[in-house]
Amino acid sequence: MNDQAESARKLEDALRAEGVRITRQRAAILRVLAEAEDHPDATELHRRARDIDESVSLATIYRTLAALEEQGIVHRHTFEGTPSRFETAEADHHDHIIDVDTGDVVEFRSDKIERLQAEIAAELGYDVVRHRLELYCRRRRD
Ligand SMILES: [Zn+2]
Repeated sequence: MNDQAESARKLEDALRAEGVRITRQRAAILRVLAEAEDHPDATELHRRARDIDESVSLATIYRTLAALEEQGIVHRHTFEGTPSRFETAEADHHDHIIDVDTGDVVEFRSDKIERLQAEIAAELGYDVVRHRLELYCRRRRD
């Protein structure tokens, strides 16, 4: 089984655990989510899911995303100036750069930043439970 099939399977299991029946439409949505690497929004997920199953409605997309989000296995990102975008939560922790001109989302991870955040929290008497870091950026022209 490849990674995407396994990832889609995990999403299915999580939905079943919620008592959600895996319909053909939902299976299509899960496959699209598992394959996405670009943090698509609901409209884009809908477009891709319809390539697999024409009967997928936008309402089903929203309901499925809500159930997956509830389970903590899909992360919703509300980046400024864009509709909510989604990714599966199983990826290792990473932060995001949002290109303010194109809306592109770039993932990065910095051990330096992770350490610094833990230090700052500790100085204030806290342990970091989780965090999200978003850098709004413009590509350099040179
Ligand atoms: Zn990401």
